Amino acid sequence: MKQQEPQLWQAVVNNDSSQDGRFFYGVMTTGIYCRPSCSSKLPKRENVRFYLTPEAAEQDGLRACKRCQPTAQNHSAMRALMVAMCRYIEQNYHNKLSLENLAEEAGMSVAHFQKTFKKHIGLSPKKYQDACRFNAFKQHLKEDQSITRASVDSGFQSSSRLYEKIDTQLGVKPSVYKKGGQGLDIFYADGQTPIGHVMIGATERGICFLQFADDAKGLRAFLQQDFPQAILHPMPIDQQPLFDVWMEALNHYLSGHIEQLQLPLDIQGTAFQKMVWDYLQTIPAGELRSYQQVAAALNKPQASRAVASACGRNRIAIAIPCHRVVRGNGQLAGYKWGVPRKQKLIHLEQSGTA
Ligand SMILES: [Zn+2]
Repeated sequence: MKQQEPQLWQAVVNNDSSQDGRFFYGVMTTGIYCRPSCSSKLPKRENVRFYLTPEAAEQDGLRACKRCQPTAQNHSAMRALMVAMCRYIEQNYHNKLSLENLAEEAGMSVAHFQKTFKKHIGLSPKKYQDACRFNAFKQHLKEDQSITRASVDSGFQSSSRLYEKIDTQLGVKPSVYKKGGQGLDIFYADGQTPIGHVMIGATERGICFLQFADDAKGLRAFLQQDFPQAILHPMPIDQQPLFDVWMEALNHYLSGHIEQLQLPLDIQGTAFQKMVWDYLQTIPAGELRSYQQVAAALNKPQASRAVASACGRNRIAIAIPCHRVVRGNGQLAGYKWGVPRKQKLIHLEQSGTA
């Protein structure tokens, strides 16, 4: 160390932050030790000693400077490490990343890693991984919008193939329908539309819940009711832009600016329900079908009551257009979100104005 001292001293004189973490200097007259970049008054050279670690300075009876906090000397290095861990998660988000694995990768204890990551990045490692999944999903949809449209246009068989494609691209296993949404993480947010308050709930694969009410209060309870076993999270801030895009599309649609609402869906239901819901997406806007017609189209002419029940269980309003199914005599029949809303939607689609 001795022969380097002129350089070390020069770094102190220059407040050279690039040397932070490489060494520390103690001031014998004040009894404190500092980082090279410390902004405190420059001590006299003869009162200064140099150390490689905070521990060495403390063994010499020195205390850490409150201003430059040399024990947090690794601040910038730690930050760099946490950013590197972000990159690592981004590259491996599709794998199961346990906290233990991540901590090991960072060369830290689990508790220390979790705390440090959150401090520097603002999210827990788990939340960060969720965000990566969402981003990949969003990116994928951007690139794939024409395929989405093509799939809707070309009939109800193709949509399930589309989901398979999304699954493989995201590296997420196809979500197996489990009662009550068991094992699902659902992110939700709410907003205002021309036909009332809406709440959108989404898994990492797409929207699984889109429902209306007169005010925000009841909506979360509906979400809970539909997915009693799922884990519900308010939409994280960094995913808000995605939610905004969905809301914008929805509001465009509801004000008659676009004909077909294109949203990424994660349809959770029984095989029969999915069959009905897939078929509903093939009914062109502005057209209506009776429950019987739907049953017949599915080669289950006896199943019109089951079709009606599947319509009643729809959790994704508008995007799965159950409002396009009515009674054989033309009566509107019921609508989960109120017959007046059904009426408005049919009118919008038939006349092109809300
Ligand atoms: Zn200092």
